[in-house]
Amino acid sequence: MFFHLILTNECSLKCKYCFGEVVEDFEENFEGLDIDYQLPKTTSYDYKLLKKFCDKDKECVLTFYGGEPLLCIDSIKKIMDLVIPKFFMVQTNGVFLDRLDSAYVNRFHTILVSIDGNEFLTNHYRGKNIYRKIIDNLKLIKRNITEKEREKPTIIYTNNLFLSREFIK
Ligand code: SF4
Repeated sequence: MFFHLILTNECSLKCKYCFGEVVEDFEENFEGLDIDYQLPKTTSYDYKLLKKFCDKDKECVLTFYGGEPLLCIDSIKKIMDLVIPKFFMVQTNGVFLDRLDSAYVNRFHTILVSIDGNEFLTNHYRGKNIYRKIIDNLKLIKRNITEKEREKPTIIYTNNLFLSREFIK
C-alpha cells in the first residue's frame, strides 16, 4: 500500500496557486467552520512505530510529502536509516534536492518533481529563476545516480507537463 508521510506544511516556495496561499485570501470567511491556525507546522513521527507499521506490509511504499518535505532532510534521513519499505518516494518542488546526500538520493525508487511547464510558466507561478534551479538540481542528482540505479526509473516530472529523463541530458 502507498502511504504519504506529511513532514511539514511549510514550503520554500510561494506558488501563486498553492492552497496555502489561497487560504490567506479568504478573509476568514469559512461559513461557520472553526479554523485552528495554531496547528503545528511540522509533523513528528515515532520512527520505531513507523517501522513496525511498515514491516506489516510487504508492499509498503512510503512517500515523503509536504508542504516541502526536503525542509525536513534530517527526518527523512532518520526514517530512511530505520524503516525498510518496498520503496521510498518523495514529492518535492526540487529546490533543495542539492542538499540531499547522493547516498540517500540513490535509495529513492522515484523522485517526483513539480514544475508547471516551460521556463516562463514555471517562473511565473513559482518565482524568479526557480525553473533553472530545479533543472540544475536534477542535472546534479542525475550525475550522482549510480550505474546500478540508472537501470530503474528514478526521476519523474509532474504537474501539467510530463517530461522524459532525456530532458536533462
Ligand atoms: S511547491 Fe507546492 S507546497 Fe510549495 S508553494 Fe508551491 S504548490 Fe505550494
